[in-house]
Amino acid sequence: MEDCIFCKIRLGELPSTKLYEDDDFMIIKDINPQAKIHLIAIPKEHAPYIDMLTKEGSERLGKIIGKISHMQEELGLTNGYRLIINQGEDAGQTVGHIHIHILGGEKLKEF
Ligand code: 5GP
Ligand code: ZN
Repeated sequence: MEDCIFCKIRLGELPSTKLYEDDDFMIIKDINPQAKIHLIAIPKEHAPYIDMLTKEGSERLGKIIGKISHMQEELGLTNGYRLIINQGEDAGQTVGHIHIHILGGEKLKEF
């Protein structure tokens, strides 16, 4: 947890461009955008992987997705968006703190 980039960002120990924050999570711009708009929603609680989530953690993650789904306008995503959670090595997860990628602002490639 001490070496976690996203915990450091949450604590203000590392800089970020923050678009939103509440008691549950924050939304920042991804440092290496893969689409015209590429944001990351970061739960405040440190949990490395979705397969390690507690019942409460799962419920909180669901609540966060629910909130994101009502933020299209303020995030500039009125024409649609894609949410991605990378889990583990095969998915290419590089930061061991659960986060949701929010991609949009243009027509995204199919995959
Ligand atoms: P993952 O590959 O773990 O699903 O996603 C990690 C994401 O965090 C990547 O898209 C990467 O660009 C982003 N990232 C890594 N370090 C930083 C950072 O210091 N600041 C911000 N804003 N994004 C970061
Ligand atoms: Zn963390």
